[in-house]
Amino acid sequence: MELHKQQQAFFSTQKTRNLSFRRDALKRLRNAIIEQEDAIADAIYADFKKPRFETFVAETQFVLAEINTMLKNLEFWAQSERVSGNLANFPSRNYIYREPLGQVLIIAPWNYPFQLTLTPMVGAIAAGNTVVAKPSELTPNTAAIVEKIIGKVFVAEHVAVVQGGVETSQELLSKRWDHIFFTGSPRIGKIIYESAAKHLTPVTLELGGKNPCIVDETANISLAAKRIIWGKALNLGQTCLAPDYLLVHHTVKDKLVQKLKDKIVEAYGEKQSQSADLARIINERHYNRLKSLLDDQRILYGGETVDEDNFIGLTLVDEPDLNNPLMQGEIFGPILPIFSYEKEPDIDAIVKRYEKPLAAYIFSNKRDSQKKFIAQHGFGGGVINDTVIHIANKNLPFGGVGHSGVGAYHGKTSFDVFSHKKAIVKRGRWIDPPLRYAPYKLPEKIAKWVKHLF
Ligand code: NAD
Repeated sequence: MELHKQQQAFFSTQKTRNLSFRRDALKRLRNAIIEQEDAIADAIYADFKKPRFETFVAETQFVLAEINTMLKNLEFWAQSERVSGNLANFPSRNYIYREPLGQVLIIAPWNYPFQLTLTPMVGAIAAGNTVVAKPSELTPNTAAIVEKIIGKVFVAEHVAVVQGGVETSQELLSKRWDHIFFTGSPRIGKIIYESAAKHLTPVTLELGGKNPCIVDETANISLAAKRIIWGKALNLGQTCLAPDYLLVHHTVKDKLVQKLKDKIVEAYGEKQSQSADLARIINERHYNRLKSLLDDQRILYGGETVDEDNFIGLTLVDEPDLNNPLMQGEIFGPILPIFSYEKEPDIDAIVKRYEKPLAAYIFSNKRDSQKKFIAQHGFGGGVINDTVIHIANKNLPFGGVGHSGVGAYHGKTSFDVFSHKKAIVKRGRWIDPPLRYAPYKLPEKIAKWVKHLF
């Protein structure tokens, strides 16, 4: 691929090492996004009717905030960092230099098609890399505007967009990159990891999982219901961080179900398909997949489907069989299974059936339960008494653990993920104790004491 070679040649000119070059690139990108913000919202709407408000908040403004964070901190984060020395290398000064990795490949999914292509790109540019980004083929309108913006702002040797589906991904993956940043499903994540391993290329894999949401008997039920519905309705449930299923203390289940229904009606009306504030399912395949998950379920509320519009309303499902497809994989849609529990071990019995998820949530006013929740379960990140909102803080690393991901990004974590930390010791020359040099004269007893020098 010609582009790969061109970027290699461009990177070796060392232009991207220059901080003003990086700042300038980020500023140009910022201006282009501001200029095209409405057109971006139109494109995403054309792809799956994402409400414009959601596009501004979770796509364009999110990326602009990431650019601003980079611009504000770039000089400071890129500086060499002095760390303390020790007796083993006395006298010396010790540093960590942050260097660009080189050529970065980004492969993005469809659900936040602008944000998940651009946010890692911003980090990679800030850290001084070249970038090739492949947006999802399932959101062609967004992919086209992303390509247009990037083509206008950057020379292709620095940052470029390549369009296509699986075959394009495979062709890109056959090349040697210095970092591959992938967002998508765990199944494809494994393919990416395998391809990267052939070249020993480091990866960041931002994947998904079955995110539990616990509501205990001390929770503020009305507030919990409002925040759960918000997190589930965003992007019509097609959010990697959306609560996948609820675990509710049996004494408050009826009350919570009633409040969840009330909140749905309050926010989206009796007929959800008429609401302008809900996106659509991305395509017919996913629509049919989700629709079939409702077969033979006890529906507590919802169940509205509109075939010609790939629409499924927010739907509450009562205690589905754990062996049913609904409880096998990530739902990634507006269906919310609800289970009741009596004791905490009942929670474990369900949560531990699954790989570590990307997120977990608990609504509780008990400090003890909150602490246990953090300590006892493995998950990427989470929130106590809300859902999804942890993604909004750039000071928090965003990523999964185990099957929900490898590595993290956002803010400083992004800058670091796209930088190599080069360790440098600058040795003094005025003293050179002879102890380490052969012929070794120190008694073994003293050699075994050397740990105190490190
Ligand atoms: P996906 O894995 O199907 O596709 C993601 C990207 O991989 C697309 O660009 C696609 O073209 C490419 N791809 C598909 N098959 C490929 C193959 N065989 N070889 C190489 N590349 C291939 O994911 P999706 O359906 O677009 O997105 C949904 C998934 O992404 C969910 O599992 C969700 O949880 C996850 N996700 C995670 C995050 C996160 O930040 N952790 C964010 C959004 C979505």
